[in-house]
Amino acid sequence: MDIVSRFIEIRDRVPATVKIVAVSKTKPASMIDELYSGAGHTIFGENKALELEAKYKQVPSDINWHFIGHLQTNKIKYIAPFVGMIQSVDSFRLLTEINKEAIKCNRIIPCLLEFHIATEEAKYGFSYEEVCSMVDDPKFQELTNISLKGVMGMATYTTDNKQISAEFKTLFSIFKSLQATYFASQPDFSEISMGMTDDYQIAIAEGSTMIRIGSGIFG
Ligand SMILES: *Cc1c(COP(=O)(O)O)cnc(C)c1O
Repeated sequence: MDIVSRFIEIRDRVPATVKIVAVSKTKPASMIDELYSGAGHTIFGENKALELEAKYKQVPSDINWHFIGHLQTNKIKYIAPFVGMIQSVDSFRLLTEINKEAIKCNRIIPCLLEFHIATEEAKYGFSYEEVCSMVDDPKFQELTNISLKGVMGMATYTTDNKQISAEFKTLFSIFKSLQATYFASQPDFSEISMGMTDDYQIAIAEGSTMIRIGSGIFG
């Protein structure tokens, strides 16, 4: 099956309200073009700043690029001028630096807060308490050029569906608590980015609004 057919097969299984981020990391710009022209798909995800910047220059300008990897503060400048969303904000310091670069570009950059929900050590992300103390910090109010749109998380890499389901439930309840406690007046704090090729159906059952699909589309 080709890229477009694989994408359409997934899209047909997913409720229309759930956004699909086509994760094109390590794949050539020609594959992005194939999905863009073949299916009219415009939301793509990358996890390396320089790779994203290079591809951005090669593909149509109306592609909405989501950054989904661990972002080093010295690399923000490469993507700040055009990135549609930074999903992987994992520290107050990173958010502060994104804000600075966004000011330089005269943009407001939409961001998601990444939470550590997996049992694996290597995955990045906030704890709930860390986000509470960040949002309560007066310096947080000074971040004029970022806009928090919701949360993101990755489940443990396991075949245990019950564990995956429990981890997604955790992210869902974190989202609900943050929404009620801090973002009640911001209706666009609304995204729960969870679910990849192997676990997106579980994620959708647990309330995902945005899935990130790489190998399931690009092979
Ligand atoms: C690579 C990646 C994905 C996509 O993974 P697949 O299993 O290929 O669908 C999703 N989210 C993040 C953060 C990734 O790095």
